[in-house]
Amino acid sequence: EKGRLLFAGPVTFVKGVVAMSGLPPADRLEVCFAGRSNVGKSSLINALTGRKTLARASNTPGRTQEINFFALGGDHHAPSEHKYLVDLPGYGYAEAPVAIVAKWQALLKQYLQGRQTLRRAFVLIDTRHGVKSVDEDILTLLDRSAVPYQAVLTKADKVSTTERDATIEQVKAALNRHPAAYPELVVTSSEKGDGIETLRSIIATLE
Ligand code: GDP
Repeated sequence: EKGRLLFAGPVTFVKGVVAMSGLPPADRLEVCFAGRSNVGKSSLINALTGRKTLARASNTPGRTQEINFFALGGDHHAPSEHKYLVDLPGYGYAEAPVAIVAKWQALLKQYLQGRQTLRRAFVLIDTRHGVKSVDEDILTLLDRSAVPYQAVLTKADKVSTTERDATIEQVKAALNRHPAAYPELVVTSSEKGDGIETLRSIIATLE
């Protein structure tokens, strides 16, 4: 119910940020999405917001190193009633230059550890692959920040029920080693719409 309200309003792209100094004012709560490149992050953000191409623009080369801010409920309403949805740069590009990786890792760390209004980080995990070592790096970074975080499985429609259940067990076991993580995962398919409403209401009810 509440999720439908927050996500029913306009969703606007606010800005892409490459340095802490560029962050929009921390005047409303926000949630962020992290995940390996190609995990299905853009598709998930588009499914959540009901916009077909919202996050695609942010996925074009050159924008991929930015932290992209979207305003849920529009950007012109009372900030207290609205939230930012934050699309973090995809990680794990094999071909990314070391210096670039180091630069965005530093920004990511500063953002996760310094953003007062960040209420939850969603770490996206491909249901076909489970938690990989690059995902472990993010989980460890999150352990050291004060941000509550939760795993979201993506592309659940791509595997059999047996495979999906095996991944759920693998991810739960991995999260057990990270006591700061929420033990519950959200299983999603942007293609089929599974888990989208659940995720919306989690975001909408955060205070
Ligand atoms: P990103 O790099 O994390 O933003 O990933 P994208 O959202 O661009 O998705 C990567 C690829 O996976 C694209 O070809 C998508 O069409 C596909 N994809 C994403 N989500 C789903 C899903 O829920 N189901 C299926 N079958 N494919 C998906």
